[in-house]
Amino acid sequence: MMAFTSRLSGAMQPIPGHTPSCATLSMAMIRSRRKHDSVDSVAAVADAAVTRGGGGGRDQSVIILGGGIAGLATARYLLHYARRNDGGGISITLIDKNVDAMTMMMPANDGTPAPSYEERVRRSRPHMNIPSRRNGNYLCPSLTVPWTARPLWKDVIMPALKSALGGGSRPPISFDMQSLIADRNMWSFGAHFLLQKFFLGRAEHQSNKSILEYSMKCLDDPTDELVRSIEYGRWAVGTRNLDGSVHDCDSSGDIDLFCGGLLDGISAEYGDMLDVIAGEEVTMLRVDDGVLRGVTTIDQHGDTRTREADKIVVALGSNSASLCRGIGIPCPVYPVKGHLVTVSSEFDHRHNLTLDGGIGYAAPMACVDSRGRRLYRLSGFVDFTSTRDADNDRIEALVNATRSHLPDLEVIDASACHRPISADDRALIGPASIRLPNLYLATGFGSRGWTIGLGGGKLLASQMLGMPCDIDPTPYLPSRFGLRYK
Ligand SMILES: Cc1cc2nc3c(=O)[nH]c(=O)nc-3n(C[C@H](O)[C@H](O)[C@H](O)COP(=O)(O)OP(=O)(O)OC[C@H]3O[C@@H](n4cnc5c(N)ncnc54)[C@H](O)[C@@H]3O)c2cc1C
Repeated sequence: MMAFTSRLSGAMQPIPGHTPSCATLSMAMIRSRRKHDSVDSVAAVADAAVTRGGGGGRDQSVIILGGGIAGLATARYLLHYARRNDGGGISITLIDKNVDAMTMMMPANDGTPAPSYEERVRRSRPHMNIPSRRNGNYLCPSLTVPWTARPLWKDVIMPALKSALGGGSRPPISFDMQSLIADRNMWSFGAHFLLQKFFLGRAEHQSNKSILEYSMKCLDDPTDELVRSIEYGRWAVGTRNLDGSVHDCDSSGDIDLFCGGLLDGISAEYGDMLDVIAGEEVTMLRVDDGVLRGVTTIDQHGDTRTREADKIVVALGSNSASLCRGIGIPCPVYPVKGHLVTVSSEFDHRHNLTLDGGIGYAAPMACVDSRGRRLYRLSGFVDFTSTRDADNDRIEALVNATRSHLPDLEVIDASACHRPISADDRALIGPASIRLPNLYLATGFGSRGWTIGLGGGKLLASQMLGMPCDIDPTPYLPSRFGLRYK
């Protein structure tokens, strides 16, 4: 594979070190619950410190904001490279406001072992607390469902006008008037997004495809034992397209299980270099004298804290934009609502099924219900709106479109959640701006976060450490947006 060196890899800033505060204490509690956090790992840290000169050289501190697939994958590869290079040299603090996201895989501190795979499936399937992770496969609908190639006038604008005037059903892509009125940035974002999709889509398609293929290689890397050890319910062996043809390059899996397994794996393997803070919401990036110093968080009791680090990664999904906006960094990532429905059926397909009208797809899951019926996740629709409510007409449309494939389907649950979509529907991976070279973004993964999450994290980790990148990082650099968006 060709190697690319990142031109923009951020220089390490001379910033005071990571403050050992209550953060470390709260983490000590979480860490004490990890099965591999043993005396051996403490000894390994001591050895590494001696090897590096008895503590003379300080570890590089990194704060990663967000424990979704983007944040976890970045953490994983930073730790992996750091360990591989010199047995240490980095300390990572991973912060997520969602306690469930960070603790579901860990063994309890009373010695009870970590939950079994079946138990994790049971807990995660109707996992309403982490809606962005409820989607079930890593096939990317926008690469296989041909809505990207739809004629703008005939398939989007006309149906939208018709529906606004009270006739006809809502088009598969919709804009919510209230969100548009409330947020003027949404106009330029929406215009850019549609233009990109319908007129300039080809180049996008190519760069999205290359990171997708790269990420799938990372997922299937036979030498990566940690990733290989994660059970995430992979099941489908390919995708059935609208014209009935089948391609086998896609498969399925549960992103929530994968994230839990990844967290479990990195905690076990690199626990001495990792602090996980669950239940603190990041409210602000702190810039003093033009230098990014750290972040401010607030916990469930209303207590605020400031944490400092050499480098900060924003991987907050759709919440990344508002945090960056606070310090004037362009990050045009908006929440775009999609719908998810879990159904069961006697029919046992091994392919993801593209739904009639190209409105979405049905992905068979590895698990079956108590009657042995296969579970499927249906997902689709692109609604530009900040609301999170599930729309019954969207759910019904998904269910009806699936009936031709699964006539006996029974609905188990349904919900809506947001995809963090960028203005050109391409991920933002890399240094956020020349002005703050120690701030990095891993966001805007849109409707393909499951597909590209692992590769995206690896790409960012290489850039952050000034290492050669396996694929060209240029198409994903956040700097492409310049000052056009705030
Ligand atoms: C209907 C639907 C179907 C989808 N289907 C697919 C598919 O088939 N294939 C595919 O590849 N992808 C799919 N996706 C997209 C995929 O789910 C997302 O791209 C992916 O989950 C994004 O991951 P992330 O880590 O960037 O963000 P998230 O998963 O949203 O993670 C962000 C994390 O940050 C935390 N956080 C947010 N704000 C704060 C804060 N202020 N302080 C602290 N923590 C905070 C959150 O708790 C969360 O854990 C689908 C999405 C939807 C909605």
